[in-house]
Amino acid sequence: MTDSTATSTATAGTSSSTSATATAGTSATVTTTRPARVVRLIRAQHAVEGDGFVVRRPFPTASLSHIDPFLLFDHMGPVDFEPGRGVGTPWHPHRGFETVTYLLEGDAEHRDSMGNQGFMSSGDTQWMTAGSGVLHKEGPTEAVQLEGGRTHGLQLWVNLPAAKKMIAPAYQDLRAAANARRDEPGATVRVIAGELFGLTGPGSTHTPISYAHVTLAEGASVSTPLPAGHVVLAYPMTGAFTVGTDGGGGDTSNNVTQVDEGILSVIEGDVLTLTGAAASSEVIVLTGAPIGEPVARYGPFVMNTEAEIRQAFSDFERGDFGAPTD
Ligand code: MN
Repeated sequence: MTDSTATSTATAGTSSSTSATATAGTSATVTTTRPARVVRLIRAQHAVEGDGFVVRRPFPTASLSHIDPFLLFDHMGPVDFEPGRGVGTPWHPHRGFETVTYLLEGDAEHRDSMGNQGFMSSGDTQWMTAGSGVLHKEGPTEAVQLEGGRTHGLQLWVNLPAAKKMIAPAYQDLRAAANARRDEPGATVRVIAGELFGLTGPGSTHTPISYAHVTLAEGASVSTPLPAGHVVLAYPMTGAFTVGTDGGGGDTSNNVTQVDEGILSVIEGDVLTLTGAAASSEVIVLTGAPIGEPVARYGPFVMNTEAEIRQAFSDFERGDFGAPTD
């Protein structure tokens, strides 16, 4: 930490409250702005979804079920489909959470049992609140499947608290042009939901999260305050970035960490600075307020208890989730 980035305030100061760890029982508090640092690196594993769509998945895996409030993180592609080879995910149900799909490149299509049909292009977000239950299908458009084309995107599952797991399903269609955006030298910041980089995104959230996409040239930096109490994740869809400062003045507590493509970083601190470490990098930054409730999950259903999972299966089998619309 450098002196120029550190701010300290002390209240009810006594001669004993000069360190960051105030003695229990005193009224002294010390607040320090901490530059963010990487506390964990998670390498994505390969998984196959739907009709054969290969994704890179930091979680869920055998060793990491979720990072509260996020339940799944799937990096889709980039893949260049040959004509006739495009694959998506056929009709399937969800209950108890939200699926948020962001398309960096490509053309995708979505249908659901509420009767929605959406098309997405580069920079668009499809935000589906499954709530009490919905059936949907998703994947490249028919044109991409027949004629070929690129797909590159990210699907995130955001958990809902017990009080909201059975709310009515809903759907937000967030176009690229609606994203909050700022261009800086060597960098572009887009915010889809929540507040980051001084921008507020258009997405409506049940569970407080923030979601940003940053494009960085090599050596370019962007900074943002981080929401207090949120978990913070940053992931290069392409390229690489570094987090941290060089710990000038002999302070080695905040060394620079480089995060390469295919690796998810977990970050702690108050102010995050990202610096591009490849010719061009596309970086996703996510923050979320942990829900702190038990998670019971089986495939497309995520509830709080095993009994609720069994109920989801029986409701699904009874047809309560609706029917395919094509
Ligand atoms: Mn789905």
